[in-house]
Amino acid sequence: MDFSRLVSYYERLEATTKRLEMRDILTELFAEAEPREASRIAYLTLGELYPAYVGVELGMAEKLAIRALKMVTGIDEGKIEESLRKTGDLGLVAEKLLSSKKTQMTLSLEPLTVERVYSQLERIAKFTGEGAMEMKVKTLSGLLAQASPKEAKYLIRLVTGNMRMGVADMTLIDALAALKGGGKEEIERAYNLCSDIGLVASTVKEHGVEGVAKIGLRVGIPVRPMLAERLTSAQEILEKLGNTGFAEYKYDGERMQIHKADSELMIFSRRQENITSQFPDVVEMCRRGLAAREAIVECEAVAYDPETGDMLPFQELMHRRRKYDVEKAAQLYPVSLFFFDALYIDGEPLIDLPLLERRKRLSQVLESSDNFRLTEGIMVSDPDSLDRFMLKAVEEGCEGVMVKDISPKSIYRAGARGWLWIKYKRSYVSKLTDTLDLVVVGAFYGKGRRSGRIGTLLMAVYDDEADVFRTVCKVGTGFKDEDLEHLTQTLTPLAQKQKPARVESIMEPDIWTRPEMVLEIVGDEITLSPIHTCGWGAIRSDAGLAVRFPRFTGRYRSDKSPEDATTVNEIIELYKSQLKVIAGGGEGEPT
Ligand code: ATP
Repeated sequence: MDFSRLVSYYERLEATTKRLEMRDILTELFAEAEPREASRIAYLTLGELYPAYVGVELGMAEKLAIRALKMVTGIDEGKIEESLRKTGDLGLVAEKLLSSKKTQMTLSLEPLTVERVYSQLERIAKFTGEGAMEMKVKTLSGLLAQASPKEAKYLIRLVTGNMRMGVADMTLIDALAALKGGGKEEIERAYNLCSDIGLVASTVKEHGVEGVAKIGLRVGIPVRPMLAERLTSAQEILEKLGNTGFAEYKYDGERMQIHKADSELMIFSRRQENITSQFPDVVEMCRRGLAAREAIVECEAVAYDPETGDMLPFQELMHRRRKYDVEKAAQLYPVSLFFFDALYIDGEPLIDLPLLERRKRLSQVLESSDNFRLTEGIMVSDPDSLDRFMLKAVEEGCEGVMVKDISPKSIYRAGARGWLWIKYKRSYVSKLTDTLDLVVVGAFYGKGRRSGRIGTLLMAVYDDEADVFRTVCKVGTGFKDEDLEHLTQTLTPLAQKQKPARVESIMEPDIWTRPEMVLEIVGDEITLSPIHTCGWGAIRSDAGLAVRFPRFTGRYRSDKSPEDATTVNEIIELYKSQLKVIAGGGEGEPT
């Protein structure tokens, strides 16, 4: 396929924010593509080159892209930067520059194909070491020299990691299903098991839904994690689970999916990144303690104080997120591993077995010690014992408990947030609300001491049905000076002049930011609001929902993608549960 053809589809995608329209456009696009092209297109459309676990990213600094533009157009870097400041989109700047008469003469070469663009982008991403920057600039300028103005717009957006079309992985899955007239469940299942949208797209094209249904678990390939719903009372939880459940401590650490194949060990994060090199101690512990030749198991890694053995909060673990001095960090911030699931052991996939059977298999392969063992857990069937267990968990440094379904249908549902697992967290600040993970979508400049710097953020929740982000509060409290410094630095590259395609907002911040950064926020309660779009019309036709008195907890949820943030439905449920607590009297103290 010619790249110009793909670009014509991208133009159509950019012109709409409606998910159904996007799906239809993508279905047409996939219909035209060869299997291998379908895989390339799936990655490129998400602004990626490979699945996350490969760990090769495209993101090229804007400064380098500007140098490449200079090489092709002869126009001064200063001038290009100036146009960038005006438009906020280097893609548009590139389109304009290449449309200008002076550069037209360079456009007579043979047309670019999707394959060529993809392979050149691969080269750009992979250059490392000395001279890498020069090579990246040269390769990009080679592509730009062959590109039409419209093609240049998307090449620049691709290399700088700024696709702006608002297409999410689930929309691609919908499009692939529409192409085959069904099979969404099989396609989604395959994606959740292999975490590779390109593989799924090419398999659908080549072998149809039947072929995709054969994609299964593989040691070394991360599985998208099963996730929990939340409720705020022990009684509701037990009712939801048919009066009995298995309650486990909800440890305050980082989720790890451990893959073992003979002596080889890999650790994947909640977002399927390969984080093995950061945790040599975990690798060693699993080599010694996992008595299986092959396994995929999940645990929560929690930092502990080596002097007292007490568990430490999540923030301490963030010291382990580094590239250098990992051995030293492992000594300073050691971790305990608490295992809660087994997906595969020695040739046998376990994901379709019920929870307690999986837990039994897991216990059989763990050579346990104080720092390497199963999660603490008990069977519960009355609210009082669940509440007592919860208090004990919190006293011991946990966030709360996870209460899990134990019925025969309690399988491991990869990639799904559902009612088979229910989290029950006690907020540290107020009984009414739990902590929320919100996405930054805009920012306001500060006043007084904070003037010229970002002072307040516009925060949003994720609407997983419409695949958009809806605002839910402005937060300006809880930030230390170093947080504001860090936020200004991190958010500046995400800034854009216009509202991002996937953001729904009535408020206009000073700058918009691409929805990427997730922060943990606590608030006092959820209230009706005429200015926030979260849950608009769900409770009252002319109002949305907002978080009252929000403050930053100090926790950057870099382990979460924006689509993993708190959802609109969760906020609606929280709002309703507050009403119940107030009506029930005394169970919670509204602040
Ligand atoms: P949170 O923001 O509350 O950590 P989350 O969105 O990351 O939640 P949830 O599905 O809401 O994910 O909660 C499950 C998370 O809790 C898991 O991803 C895991 O990291 C952690 N966890 C801690 N203890 C357990 C446990 N016993 N069983 C399952 N998950 C646990």
